[in-house]
Amino acid sequence: MIKHLIAGREVESADVFETLNPATGEVLAEVASGGADEVDQAVRAAQEAFPAWAARPAADRAAIMHRLGELITRDVPELSRLETQDTGQVIGQTGKALVPRAANNFHFFAEQVKRMDGESYPSDTGHLNVTMWQPVGVCALISPWNVPFMTATWKLAPCLAFGNTAVMKMSELSPLTADRLGQLALEAGVPPGVFNIVHGYGATAGEALVSHAGVRAVSFTGSTATGHRIVRAAGLKKFSMELGGKSPFVVFDDADYERALDAALFMIFSNNGERCTAGSRILVQRGIYERFQADFAARAQRLTVGDPLDPKTIVGPMISAGHLAKVTGYIEAGRREGARLLCGGGTPDVGAAFRGGNWVQPTVFADVDNAMSIAQDEIFGPVACLIPFDDEAQALAIANDTAYGLSSYVWTESTGRALRMARGIEAGMVFVNSQNVRDLRQPFGGVKASGTGREGGHYSYEVFCEAKNICISY
Ligand code: NAD
Repeated sequence: MIKHLIAGREVESADVFETLNPATGEVLAEVASGGADEVDQAVRAAQEAFPAWAARPAADRAAIMHRLGELITRDVPELSRLETQDTGQVIGQTGKALVPRAANNFHFFAEQVKRMDGESYPSDTGHLNVTMWQPVGVCALISPWNVPFMTATWKLAPCLAFGNTAVMKMSELSPLTADRLGQLALEAGVPPGVFNIVHGYGATAGEALVSHAGVRAVSFTGSTATGHRIVRAAGLKKFSMELGGKSPFVVFDDADYERALDAALFMIFSNNGERCTAGSRILVQRGIYERFQADFAARAQRLTVGDPLDPKTIVGPMISAGHLAKVTGYIEAGRREGARLLCGGGTPDVGAAFRGGNWVQPTVFADVDNAMSIAQDEIFGPVACLIPFDDEAQALAIANDTAYGLSSYVWTESTGRALRMARGIEAGMVFVNSQNVRDLRQPFGGVKASGTGREGGHYSYEVFCEAKNICISY
């Protein structure tokens, strides 16, 4: 039984739900299902713990964050296995990238808080302004199911390092690694009440948490629809909203063809396509379009789909039966709307042991019109849309013809064109001749329906701190 973590103690609820292994459909664990009562207890614990934690010297908090990072590194095999079982994200990703990155999140923000500086504005009117960052108080940290451990730590590390206390709610579909995170935090020396976890559904635990008067800031990662609901329910609080995406991956005919092809495959099929920064609309210039679609589909068909615990597997199962139905529904819509199915679309043969899982083949549509629902809606699965274009102006128009604006990718050997596209694309992030590569100092986040706020490096101050100005007359 997975229980809540409140004031350093495990707490049960009258209600429970089950978390399933998406590869097999088997029950992995029963989980306490919290509501307004558990949320209230957790927020009160976080409020009580706040003054002492905020008053600790930054170097103390940093040392505890480093220790937590070390414990995660110690437990990479266990944590990555658990994450793979709970989410279907393949072990090659969880073991080599996602869980190690979670450890880095703590090391990174442990150093960031030691560098945290203020500003001063001396004036010739006999006043000196001193601006300092102060912690906000109790923060609600809400994560989705796609890469839950990495996302949870990306929020928790700056939140705690900067002196706040936290109540975390993980997705009901993937609570297991957060439970271990709670235990590891206590082992690392995070005082009871500084980090609390309430498990449960969005409509109950989630809504109670964001609307609790004791919560001062909400760091949310999830869908755009839920982001809207949270802002309406929460009232006046600080928000960081990391929402959905439908990112363009633009390949001009002068691009380094093989590297662009590799990166295009990676950006839509890695993480099972369940990736907010997925390059899900692949815009290809007409001169290379025929060759690109043939090569792309041939490579997509060769991707190994199956047991996510097998290191050779590239694409695992969808998180849930409901999400699988959503993805296959879009594949049907693509066919209906007249896109050309190049490969996939069906159920892969994964063997008897995995029949109860949520499987779909890597799927490629060509000749997609950007107005089709498969090009406009976030599918959040391994479904690639290839869209031809003629010139730079058309590529930019198609790239921006979307409600979203999270990430984008531009492939060209022309520096001028790369910079013109990068300037023109409406997105929080543009990668030129690169897949999504993260530097933890960079601002991460989106524009339009992809959200508000940036996290990363000193940009995280805006989310987890208040700027206080002190004006001194002399
Ligand atoms: P979701 O919005 O359904 O749920 C996200 C979290 O919000 C879950 O913990 C859920 O329980 C909770 N929640 C649901 N309703 C709530 C409510 N009314 N009040 C408070 N909390 C509530 O999203 P999901 O299906 O879990 O995740 C997929 C989505 O997340 C995709 O849209 C994806 O693009 C997005 N995502 C964004 C980023 C990013 O950094 N921009 C990263 C990963 C995933």
